[in-house]
Amino acid sequence: MARIFGWLVLALLVLVAGGAVYVYQQVSTLEVARVTDDVHALYGFGSNVGILRTADGAVVVDTMTFQMQGREVRERAEQLGGGATQAIINTHYHLDHTHGNPAFAPGLDVISTERTLAYLKQLDAEYWQGDAAGTLPNETFDGERVLEIGGKTVRMLHPGRGHTDGDLVVLFVEDRVLHTGDLFFNGRYPNIDLEAGGSVQQWAATLDRVLELDFEHVIPGHGPVTDRAGLVAFQRFIQQLADVGVEAAKSGRSLAETQRSAALDADTGFEVMSIPFVMRLDRDFVVKRSWEEATGSFTRVELAAPGAAQ
Ligand SMILES: [Zn+2]
Repeated sequence: MARIFGWLVLALLVLVAGGAVYVYQQVSTLEVARVTDDVHALYGFGSNVGILRTADGAVVVDTMTFQMQGREVRERAEQLGGGATQAIINTHYHLDHTHGNPAFAPGLDVISTERTLAYLKQLDAEYWQGDAAGTLPNETFDGERVLEIGGKTVRMLHPGRGHTDGDLVVLFVEDRVLHTGDLFFNGRYPNIDLEAGGSVQQWAATLDRVLELDFEHVIPGHGPVTDRAGLVAFQRFIQQLADVGVEAAKSGRSLAETQRSAALDADTGFEVMSIPFVMRLDRDFVVKRSWEEATGSFTRVELAAPGAAQ
């Protein structure tokens, strides 16, 4: 009996250790994709990072999920971005886009919308204490902002509600590269943060404003780098998804019924993103969010210091 128990414990330990190694590998692996001579994307566990090379050093868009990744992002940015990072831009408040910030030197420019900073302070306050507070956004805007740095122009825009109500997109003007943050998941089911002002119903109109910008290449928040056509395809999916919710609310369909009968075909080939026991972004999830918005079945966070963006 004792012997069997011993084997069981050993088997369990091997499993746990194997799991830990797997997670460690996921977190420590970064892949570099060249977009133009001066723009690179980093793929890893969490959001896609954008790096712009300028004559004065790097501009980094989003910093992934862990400080360990943030250190790796910082090193890659220094190699690929023409020197030490001069500015970080956070597209929105989610931890898979911001928690790498503290790996950077405190005091550098960290830019976000006002609402993103408000959400970070209110919903993620525990993380942003002590030293980490030094890399909270220290330059916020509402609407639009332009950064001229080392011969490059970086245009940031809050185009409206979608994934949250504080997202920004970044246009590297000379390179005609757009980083959309999570307003665009390429070939994957998106997260939709209704509680933080996200809106399936307004998302497509928000993307109309994004599509007015002059760009050729697109770095999405998640999924591979693509082009305008990729973004337009995602917009079509979002519009279908919004219609599913509105139709269901109009005819009083239950959530389960809506999930069973949803008329969606623009999601063909979409990948499911999941972290066991934490989250699962699949078809049922996005239909649920659309139904919840259309039927008012969710509670929006009330910000103590809301900022002006809507
Ligand atoms: Zn997000």
